[in-house]
Amino acid sequence: MLGIEGTAWAASAAVFDTETDDVFIETDAYEPDSGGIHPREAAEHMHDAIPRVVETALAHARETFDGPDTEPPVDAVAFSRGPGLGPCLRTVGTAARALAQSLDVPLIGVNHMVAHLEIGRHTADFDSPVCLNASGANAHLLAYRNGRYRVLGETMDTGVGNAIDKFTRHVGWSHPGGPKVEEAAKDGELIDLPYVVKGMDFSFSGSMSAAKQRYDDGVPVEDICYSLQETIFAMLTEVAERALSLTGSDELVLGGGVGQNARLREMLADMCEQRGADFHAPEPRFLRDNAGMIAVLGAKMYEAGETLAIEDSRVDPNFRPDQVPVTWRTDEPE
Ligand code: ATP
Repeated sequence: MLGIEGTAWAASAAVFDTETDDVFIETDAYEPDSGGIHPREAAEHMHDAIPRVVETALAHARETFDGPDTEPPVDAVAFSRGPGLGPCLRTVGTAARALAQSLDVPLIGVNHMVAHLEIGRHTADFDSPVCLNASGANAHLLAYRNGRYRVLGETMDTGVGNAIDKFTRHVGWSHPGGPKVEEAAKDGELIDLPYVVKGMDFSFSGSMSAAKQRYDDGVPVEDICYSLQETIFAMLTEVAERALSLTGSDELVLGGGVGQNARLREMLADMCEQRGADFHAPEPRFLRDNAGMIAVLGAKMYEAGETLAIEDSRVDPNFRPDQVPVTWRTDEPE
């Protein structure tokens, strides 16, 4: 299975070998010169980089199977249909359609957020986990019920990574801000920031605005980074615990680029240990945006017959995970 990802910053292609479970991923990251992700520039990056990463992934498939001169044994092309930035999705969708046609194989349209969940389920071998997706543009809790992944709780405003990145832009740090906040937080102490959880939903914009204000007031940036992490990760952990309690599940998987943060993983692992639940965070290459998760879910969808006619393969920047009929989980109780 060939997977292609290009919803925001990662121009990525992957080959998933269903026989060996091997996932080869090649990614070319868009790095803005200044500020955050500019949709048009990111789409130009996709235009330039996708052919390169696809060729590298296909070369790997040729090498692994029958040698460099043979046609790679690709059974289908899976691509991210959304959610994501419209210009990026359209560019990558066009590439995926052209590739499926030139290889004469079916096209599979994958929901990027469901892929973040499924790679955790796949690598942990969990049956029916709750998933916390903590990514740049999103933050939500998902759990399976009656043929769909239901959104149990979500951000009421910005995604969790975007909140962190907005703060670091204010400070003048380059994108992405998450790793820099994690580093600076090691030397920080706790200050008060708004903590906003309403039922199963959470909000990050108040914490982020207060963090900017504290910085302007001269509070040490290390203290703000530490407190931003402690505050917003505690919000995510509280709602993740409530989702486990609500569903009765004793499995939690983490998805999304913010999941690379060691402090978030530590808080979630502690909470799960206290409840006697299993916690799994996939390796970092599967947490941040990557085509490996698209190829792995694409293979499951292909197996379930979920191919997509070219004329029905329009991308959707607002594609929600609960719009997707989950037809590949035949073993699940209703
Ligand atoms: P989505 O998957 O919702 O489309 P996205 O495309 O922005 O989101 P991801 O790769 O899932 O991409 O996540 C990127 C985000 O992860 C960025 O906001 C970045 O700052 C954040 N991030 C990366 N590493 C860390 C870290 N160590 N700690 C906290 N945040 C991090």
